[in-house]
Amino acid sequence: MTSDLASCLWHQTCQENPAFPELTGEATADLVVIGGGYTGCSAALKAAEMGASVNLIEADEIGSGGSGRNVGLANAGLWLPPEDINAALGAETGSRLSELLAGAPDMVFALIEKHAIQCEPERGGTLHCAHAPSGLKDLQRRHAQLTAIGAPVELLSREDAIQRTGSDAVHGALFDPRAGTIQPLAYVRGLARAAATAGAQLPPHPPATVISREGSAWHVATPKGSLRAKHLIMATNAYAREISGYAAPQVIPVHYFQAATNPLPASLLKKILPGKEGCWDTALVMSSWRLDQAGRLVIGGMGALNHFGSALHRSWLPRKLAALYPELKDVKLHSHWHGRIAMTTEHLPKILDLQGGYACFGYSGRGIGPGTLFGAAMAEALLNGDSACLPVPPAKGHSLPFAGLRSAYYETGATLTHLVSDR
Ligand SMILES: Cc1cc2nc3c(=O)[nH]c(=O)nc-3n(C[C@H](O)[C@H](O)[C@H](O)COP(=O)(O)OP(=O)(O)OC[C@H]3O[C@@H](n4cnc5c(N)ncnc54)[C@H](O)[C@@H]3O)c2cc1C
Repeated sequence: MTSDLASCLWHQTCQENPAFPELTGEATADLVVIGGGYTGCSAALKAAEMGASVNLIEADEIGSGGSGRNVGLANAGLWLPPEDINAALGAETGSRLSELLAGAPDMVFALIEKHAIQCEPERGGTLHCAHAPSGLKDLQRRHAQLTAIGAPVELLSREDAIQRTGSDAVHGALFDPRAGTIQPLAYVRGLARAAATAGAQLPPHPPATVISREGSAWHVATPKGSLRAKHLIMATNAYAREISGYAAPQVIPVHYFQAATNPLPASLLKKILPGKEGCWDTALVMSSWRLDQAGRLVIGGMGALNHFGSALHRSWLPRKLAALYPELKDVKLHSHWHGRIAMTTEHLPKILDLQGGYACFGYSGRGIGPGTLFGAAMAEALLNGDSACLPVPPAKGHSLPFAGLRSAYYETGATLTHLVSDR
């Protein structure tokens, strides 16, 4: 396990612990998938269920990328509201994508049920909370756009939002009953277990180090063995490691960190999120909070914990907790961890056509439902030889100049905000 994951709550409380045999020697498969997050595991599961032979190569452990580090909000839709998606993709493609993603939580929770994945599923919905009166404008805009496409979202008054969250610091909220929360690492490990049960091979460690095209077949080498396959799916997203012969599509890495309280007493759980909704807010430098099954409050904000300014993030988090819930001002936070979000310029995921394969990336902070959906769709498209089922048309190319500079801009903004603010 990557050393920084030892402190991650999800790795400490995961109920799914499948083990897989290693890849040694030469193997062949219909499909090779690189990367064991939601995208890769969902693709492997779909392919195996379609009767294909599939081999998924993961550099570390299943879920060691974003899929084992996130907040666990299984949302319907993307970060962008529907009209913004349409403006970026065109009305037809955008509407289709919004429609497919509206059903993504159903897909996730159905898989959890079907495969009995032990990932603490809670279908209590999500609350997008106004961090200040000014945040209501954004929520009203989202509410108008979402109801226009038939989404059953509800705009809550300040009083109702305070009641639902148990926090006086919220100024209203957008409630989405389609969404829910999960233990994110357990979900991805459960998908991997289901894929293995359906016949997929998922050898963890070591990474794919070389990819080459030999005639109509892909050849993937690892330090311990190699694979030949007709189809390839690259699902390495924000955690792409260097591979000779393959240039991973560039994304803007944006960091987000979290920590947890100990389980809260029953008296507090009656007041704080009694409906177990997952929350995030409208602040430009956003925060999130939710309960896990044991009643721990998991709270987070933008920023990385691995640089000299990280102390500012760490010291801001208890202030944020106290601002939300003054009764928790003396409660200790533990298990600090962070993860890397793959942003694109448009804040939209992309599928890249590799001619005989696909690379998918850039969920921009919304990867649980989308990753599950895009992974399965890519496997289906490749095995059926028909790209019509893809949620977005595959792009021929992708470039993202100044990704490093843009990433530094987000991190600096978050650090400065956490220096001066407790919101
Ligand atoms: C802190 C944080 C909070 C988030 N919160 C939410 C949320 O609440 N809701 C939501 O929907 N989304 C959220 N997201 C986004 C979501 O976690 C991601 O979009 C999603 O996990 C991406 O899944 P993936 O399978 O595409 O990539 P990943 O899960 O990142 O998987 C990529 C995998 O590829 C492997 N890999 C890389 N290179 C190689 C190689 N050469 N060989 C073999 N394997 C390789 C990596 O080890 C990694 O395991 C959050 C993300 C972060 C980081």
